[in-house]
Amino acid sequence: MSKTRTAIPPLFAERLVRLRSEMERLKLDGYLVLDRRDQYWLTGFTGEDGGVLVSPADVTLLTDGRFEQTAEIEAPWARRILRKTRTPEVTAGILKRSRLARIGFDPAHMNVATHAAISKLIRPARLVSASGLILGMRRRKSPEELQAIRRAIRIAEEAFQAVAQEIRPGQSESQIAAALVFEMLRRGASEPAFPTIVAAGANASLPHYSPTDRKLRPGEPLLIDWGARAGGYVSDLTRMVWTGSIPRELGTIYGVVREAHDRAIAAVRPGVRAVTVDGVARRVIQRAGYGSRFNHALGHGMGLDVHEAPRLGKASRDVLEAGMVITIEPGIYLPGVGGVRIEDDVLVTEDGCQVLTSLPSALP
Ligand code: ZN
Ligand code: ZN
Repeated sequence: MSKTRTAIPPLFAERLVRLRSEMERLKLDGYLVLDRRDQYWLTGFTGEDGGVLVSPADVTLLTDGRFEQTAEIEAPWARRILRKTRTPEVTAGILKRSRLARIGFDPAHMNVATHAAISKLIRPARLVSASGLILGMRRRKSPEELQAIRRAIRIAEEAFQAVAQEIRPGQSESQIAAALVFEMLRRGASEPAFPTIVAAGANASLPHYSPTDRKLRPGEPLLIDWGARAGGYVSDLTRMVWTGSIPRELGTIYGVVREAHDRAIAAVRPGVRAVTVDGVARRVIQRAGYGSRFNHALGHGMGLDVHEAPRLGKASRDVLEAGMVITIEPGIYLPGVGGVRIEDDVLVTEDGCQVLTSLPSALP
């Protein structure tokens, strides 16, 4: 395998200590990471054909020849196994040679067929399901991670400001989305955090709309939901753009959404249940008579993934902790009329919270 290994950077050394203590608690002598974001969090390795096998003494990257150099640059301290294919048989062979007996994995990242094939081939060793083990460790962000998230937010906000001033009737939704992506990449984003949503007029009543060549008509409002990925981490915002006088009903629901948003943020602090914060926003919208028109969760954790733990929804069992970064994004959607959503990114602090996004969201 690799020659003399360099020292593990402190950031990853600390994360490995945490993983290994979890492994000990669960009586695992190995852990197989199959999610790309988990892999990046644990090792800094970005290779797409990836996997990481962690044992009490070793960290081995499973990848292929295309990512050999990437692995050498990003995680020179790790062992490497280059596999020709990533079939369950090859993975099973690697696990078997490792002589580990109880190998943990996250069931969210292994399909049933792969699990069955590997389990059969590695007997008497066993795959042991450990749901969300690394995702749980990713919930509280380190100062380095917060710095990356703040940068992803700044890039998204500056891109938005550049594009918003240039929005004119006749431009298509896709054209505006493309301009936003262009401005984010120009400012250092590696990619948009997710497909940018630009919804004109009544299209905004679909919370997860995909932009089309539909052209913006004079005076129509726009709902824009966008974010950047930079340094691995993402931002996620939603703003309304009013290109003319605000239609009366949309003005009303904007006020309701704004109040739900502000009250929810005021309720964010460590120790509060996520479901409670969701409830604060939901009650504002219900009392205004739009309860059935707020048909998604209030928000979600974000970091390496756009949606990660914790969840802020009606069924969430998460409790907020200092260091978490969450979105607060209430919305009201009226079919045939339009929709309003306001989304900000919020850091849970020791004594409350700090809103990381800074784009104004008040009505003009
Ligand atoms: Zn969003
Ligand atoms: Zn979101």
